Amino acid sequence: MSKNTDVLQSTLSLRAVGGCHGLAAAVMVAVLFSVGASAQVILVEDGMARAVVVTAAEPVETAGYAAQELVWHVEQATGVQLETVTEPDVPEEPYSRIYVGDTETARRNGIDPAELPREAYVLRSVGNDLFIVGREDDQDPLREENPNVGTLFGVYEFLESVLGVRWLWPGELGTYIPRTDTIVLGAVNALDAPALRFRSFYWGRMRAIAEGHATLDPEDVPIGFDPDVAKQYADAVRVLLRRNRMGGLDAKPPTGHTFAGWWHEYGEEHPEWFMMRRDGERGRLDPDERHVDICVSNEELQAFILSQWDGGPILRLGAVDRPGRCYCDDCRAWDGPQPEEIPWFARRMYETDHRAQEAFAGATSDRYARFWKTMQAKAEKRNPDVLVSASFLFENEFPAPTTDIRLNNRIYAEYVQWQDPHLRYFPVPEEAFEWLKEQWKGWRRTGIRMGYRPNYLHDGYVLPHFETRQSAEFFKFAWEHGMEGATFDSLTGQWATQGLRLYIHMRLMANPGLDVDDIRKEYFAAFGPAADAMERYFDYWEDYAFEHLLRIIEVFWERGWRYSIYALYAHEAFPPESFVPAEALLKEALELAAAAETPEYEARVQFIQAGFEHARLAIRMAALFDGQEDIAEDRMDEATAALKELIAFRKDHQHLFFSDLQWVSSFWERRRWNVEPLLEALASE
Ligand SMILES: [Zn+2]
Repeated sequence: MSKNTDVLQSTLSLRAVGGCHGLAAAVMVAVLFSVGASAQVILVEDGMARAVVVTAAEPVETAGYAAQELVWHVEQATGVQLETVTEPDVPEEPYSRIYVGDTETARRNGIDPAELPREAYVLRSVGNDLFIVGREDDQDPLREENPNVGTLFGVYEFLESVLGVRWLWPGELGTYIPRTDTIVLGAVNALDAPALRFRSFYWGRMRAIAEGHATLDPEDVPIGFDPDVAKQYADAVRVLLRRNRMGGLDAKPPTGHTFAGWWHEYGEEHPEWFMMRRDGERGRLDPDERHVDICVSNEELQAFILSQWDGGPILRLGAVDRPGRCYCDDCRAWDGPQPEEIPWFARRMYETDHRAQEAFAGATSDRYARFWKTMQAKAEKRNPDVLVSASFLFENEFPAPTTDIRLNNRIYAEYVQWQDPHLRYFPVPEEAFEWLKEQWKGWRRTGIRMGYRPNYLHDGYVLPHFETRQSAEFFKFAWEHGMEGATFDSLTGQWATQGLRLYIHMRLMANPGLDVDDIRKEYFAAFGPAADAMERYFDYWEDYAFEHLLRIIEVFWERGWRYSIYALYAHEAFPPESFVPAEALLKEALELAAAAETPEYEARVQFIQAGFEHARLAIRMAALFDGQEDIAEDRMDEATAALKELIAFRKDHQHLFFSDLQWVSSFWERRRWNVEPLLEALASE
C-alpha cells in the first residue's frame, strides 16, 4: 500500500496550482499533504470490492462521466466492478466511499467546487473516504472548450498516479492499465490543475465527425476509413485527448491573420495603407494575392483599424499569412539592425528569394513590436484592459527584436517556427535548435505573453519520421520560459509510426515538468518484455531522422510544401532499404512479447508492426507515382496491384486505429495522386 501512496505523494506534491497566471489569489491551499498512519482509502483489497463510488443525488453530466471512467478503469485493473450509488443511498458497509464530484458531503467537509479555479480539482481523504471534486456542469465533458471538468481531471489524476494508467493511443489497446488485486492509498489532500492554461492539437475534420457536425467524405472511403470506423476512431481520439487532459481552449487568446483580404477590400481607395514593394508601388505583384500586408507606420490606417475594433477585450493585429513586408522609408525606419552575418539555417528568414525582389525580406520584429505598442496605447484610451493579440511570431517577425524595445503583458503572441526549411520540422540542425531558443528568449524579454503553436506535427506522412528529443526539450524550455499554453497545428494521427512523439506531446502538455526519459519509459513499458527492443526500434527511426536531416530537406525543398507533398516523394525520404534494420528489431520485439502470459504486449507490438507494414506499402505506391500526379502508362498494372494491396491492408487493419486514414486519404494522397484510373481498373477486375 505504501508504494501507491508514495507515487501519489510525489506526483501531487510536485505541482501546485497557480503562480504564473493569476490563479494563486483564488487558491487557498496549494498542496497540503500528510500521510496518516491510521487513515487509508481502500478501493479493492485482495480482489474484493471495499468501496462504493458516490455521486450527488442528481449528478451533472461531467460528474456522471467521471464516475464511469473511474469504475471502468478500476475494473480493468482489478477485475472488480465498484458499485456506484447516489448520495442519499450510501450503504453503511463499505470500508471507503469515493465521492466523485460536487456532493453535500463534500461541501460539509469544506470542498466547494465554486471556489476552485478553472480546470482544478481537489483530491482529499477524510477518514477512510476519498473526495475527488472540481468544477463541473452539464456541458459535454469532452469538449475542449469546456473548463468545468475539474472532477473528471481529478479522476484522471487518480488513475494515473495511483493505478499507473497510461493512455498511449486511441482505443482499448492503447490504454495501458497495470493489473493489481489491491488499490489502497494513504491520506491525501491536494489541489491541482493542468500547468498550461490551454493544451490542444487541431484535428478539425475528425473532431467535427466525433461531435456530429460532419460526416466522412464519401470520396475518402475507397482508400481510407469506412464511415462507421471513422466515427469510432474519432470518438476514441476525443476520449484519448481528454484523458490526457487536453483542453482549456476557452482560455486561449484568439489569433489569426487579421489583415488577410484587406487589400481587396480597401486597396483601391487607400493603396497607401498597404505594403510598398521595392519598386515603389503598393500591393503585391500578383493582383489576386489576398495576403498583402499593411503599411504599419501609416497613422490614418492605424485610426481606421481602431475604428473597426469593437472596443472589446481583444484587439487583433495579426499579420497576413505570407512573408514580405512594407518597403516604405517610414516602416523601415522602425526596424532594428539586421544581423551582420545571417545564420546558414535561417537564410530564408532574411532573403526570401523572389519576395526579396518584391518586398522587404528582413526581420521586421522591431517594426511590428512598435506597431503593437502604438496601437495598444491608442486602444487603451477606449478600453484600458484591452489585450493586443499580435497573433503569430512567424515569418518576418520570428527573430527576436534587436533593439531594446519594451512591451508588456497586455500583448499576446504565439511562436511559430517556419520560413526556413531548416527550422520548420524537428529534428533541426543543432545550431538551429539553439538559435530557436534564443529567439523565444528574446521575445520573452520584451515582456509579452507567449503561447506556442508550431507546425512540425504536420510532417512525415504515414512514415516513422519523427524525433522525440528536440521537440520535447524545446517544449520544456518554452514552459520554463513563460509559455502559457500550446496548440499544435495538426494531429495527423499516425499512432503506429509517430505515436511515441504524439504520446510525449500529450504528456508534456498535461505536465511540462515531466522528464522526457521517464515519459519514453512509460511508453515502452506498455510493451512488457519487449520494452527494450521497442525502444531500440524507435531509436532506430529517430536516429534515421537525424542522420538524414539535411538530405530529407533537400528531397522536398524545391518541390513545394513538404507537409502537403510528402506522399509524392516519400520513397526518396525513406527508401525500402531503410526499413530493413527496423524489421529485424520488430521481429525481435514480437518474439519477446509473444512469450508473455498476457496477450496485450504482443498485440501492442503488432499494432506498431501494422504501422511499419503500412508505411512500406505506402512508399511502394509513392515510388510508382514517382513524383507525378498520374501513374505512368507502363506502370498501370503494377500500380493497380499495389493499390489493391494497400487498400486491403487498410480495410483489414482500420479497426486498430493505427492511422487516421481520413487524413491520409483526403490530405496526403487524393490531392497528390490521381488514383481514379486505378480504382476504375480495380472495379472492373
Ligand atoms: Zn510602410
